[in-house]
Amino acid sequence: MKYPIIAYGDPVLRRKAGAIEPDEYPNIKQLAEDMFETMYAARGVGLAAPQIGLSMRLFVIDATPFADDEPELENFKKVFINATILEENGEEWAFNEGCLSIPDIREDVYRKATVRLSYYDENWKHYEETFKGLAARVIQHEYDHIDGKLFTDKLSPLRRRLIEKKLTDISKGIVDVEYRMKFPAVKKGR
Ligand SMILES: [Zn+2]
Repeated sequence: MKYPIIAYGDPVLRRKAGAIEPDEYPNIKQLAEDMFETMYAARGVGLAAPQIGLSMRLFVIDATPFADDEPELENFKKVFINATILEENGEEWAFNEGCLSIPDIREDVYRKATVRLSYYDENWKHYEETFKGLAARVIQHEYDHIDGKLFTDKLSPLRRRLIEKKLTDISKGIVDVEYRMKFPAVKKGR
């Protein structure tokens, strides 16, 4: 099942999401599958639960489209539940990021090179793992979502001013987008 993707401006994207208890959410595998389906339809490489309106510490990633640049990302498809960043290291580097909740905007964002993470997969198996390169980048972006942060928060005040009008337009649904979205400033029934 595909979900509509929540657009910039919705308060759910700003909430720090809560941890998930295994018995509280027995259908987590199905939910993760639905999130992959939603993400693939929108041609994304990552999707976090707040982006479908669920304030939960869950995100999914499939970085396979980046395998041209980093061959080890072929089939890099993972579910991250209750992720916690243990440490981030290395020099900050710029990458041109986009976000399914903020269509049509791409900006260079600086983040550290490696990230060490504690998380569970969809079978509640626990991992502590270090990621680098574009895998780290996508994880850091999605992790921000479960903490209520967006990549536009990381831009310089000047860059932010330049895209402000576009962001407001997105929240009103004034944007060309090929996947289904839910816009906070659009009344129901329109
Ligand atoms: Zn995003």
